[in-house]
Amino acid sequence: QWGALQNDICKTIGQNNYKVWIEPLNYEGAESGVAIFQAPTNFFGTYVSQNYGDMLLSQIASVNPSVRRIHFKTDVDAREAVKAPRAPQMAAEVPEPVQQQSSASDLLPGAPLDKRFTFDTFVVGKPNELAHAAARRVAEGGPVTFNPLFLYGGVGLGKTHLMHAIAWELRTRQPNLNVLYLSAEQFMYRFVQALRDRRMMDFKSIFRSVDVLMVDDVQFIAGKDSTQEEFFHTFNALVDQNKQIIISADRAPDEIKDLENRIRSRLQSGLVVDLHPTDYELRLGILQSKVEAQRAIYPNLEIDPRVLEFLAHRISTNVRVLEGALTRLFAFASLVGREINIDLTQECLADVLRASERKVSIEEIQRRVAEHYNIRLSEMVGPKRVRTFARPRQVAMYLCKQLTSRSLPEIGRKFGGRDHTTVMHGVRRIEELKIQDGQIAEDLEILRRTLEE
Ligand code: ADP
Ligand code: MG
Repeated sequence: QWGALQNDICKTIGQNNYKVWIEPLNYEGAESGVAIFQAPTNFFGTYVSQNYGDMLLSQIASVNPSVRRIHFKTDVDAREAVKAPRAPQMAAEVPEPVQQQSSASDLLPGAPLDKRFTFDTFVVGKPNELAHAAARRVAEGGPVTFNPLFLYGGVGLGKTHLMHAIAWELRTRQPNLNVLYLSAEQFMYRFVQALRDRRMMDFKSIFRSVDVLMVDDVQFIAGKDSTQEEFFHTFNALVDQNKQIIISADRAPDEIKDLENRIRSRLQSGLVVDLHPTDYELRLGILQSKVEAQRAIYPNLEIDPRVLEFLAHRISTNVRVLEGALTRLFAFASLVGREINIDLTQECLADVLRASERKVSIEEIQRRVAEHYNIRLSEMVGPKRVRTFARPRQVAMYLCKQLTSRSLPEIGRKFGGRDHTTVMHGVRRIEELKIQDGQIAEDLEILRRTLEE
């Protein structure tokens, strides 16, 4: 029964919303008029209930008229975690550095691993699913299939997180494995130090005796000739012994300038995967998971779920910025003792929001929407109120509200001098239709994507 309904729901609210909000729910059945769903977290349940509760209820009631209410439950563990009162200062999220035991020497340990960077805390979405899958495979520690694994992507997209996750996983599965993680900069530093201390033999024997070598931000050695040379030899020695190497960089191997060609081709010889910039759904997923962590710290703070959508829309693809914003928001709200809503968010994060403001203009939105619905621009901003023009006009207004930071009066002015209440009405109408009308939801999704490109 639920299975059959899911299709309809997907059509109604659009595939993306469906995937994000409905798919993770487990339907447990109906009992004395109450349909029960298991939600992954409390927050998730509250959100779905507020935003899709009515829709869900009417869908379920259409096949099972006895159902009058929906209840979302969460498993006990998650609820306890959220409830557990912890002092804010205790949970100040300072990672405890875990020094790696390097079997060989005091001189050349690896870098500490961040406890928070595990596979459990890594949120997977379209933009990073390939990189995540490759990382998982390597972390299984089976026979070496691709060597090296080369992960690349822009700042704050999770390269370091994934590498640490691999290291943690390998350590758990095979405690005897000698896993060495460090940044290319640290590699250079250690190399120079070994040269200076005349301990190159130690250096070589340590780096050639690891089972898994991970070098983060390898672009750093570009233009540093002797470090490159040493890196090349280390690399070859390990590959010859069939040891796993994992490398990250902020760009693809052939885009790293001042890198010796033989190194470049070595780096390309395994599996090269990139982490794409985050999209809206991934940002939302990450925010949800980070919110749970914040709620454990501040159990009494109320947060309006729309804040997450707002942030996912408005903040850039860099996850670090997203995290920082959320941390600041919770700290701020707890200090001033207010609920976290859109107003508070705009106040508290004004600088962050301005910095990552979209470059999309109202004119651009009007042009794209007119194109999409096959009407003229003059009809979009003109006075005619027939549905053929009015609906695209409302869609454009809605997108202007979502994608730019223009106020309602400003938007109204650009739509042939309309009043701000007209804009507000249009935006509301589309918000409703987005839930009821799958076609509109799909149109919005396509338009948003083309506009964000
Ligand atoms: P990079 O090394 O690519 O610059 P990091 O791995 O340091 O980026 O990630 C920056 C921050 O964003 C870290 O706190 C990390 O935990 C977080 N982060 C990035 N991607 C994800 C993700 N998919 N899920 C959860 N957290 C993420
Ligand atoms: Mg990094």
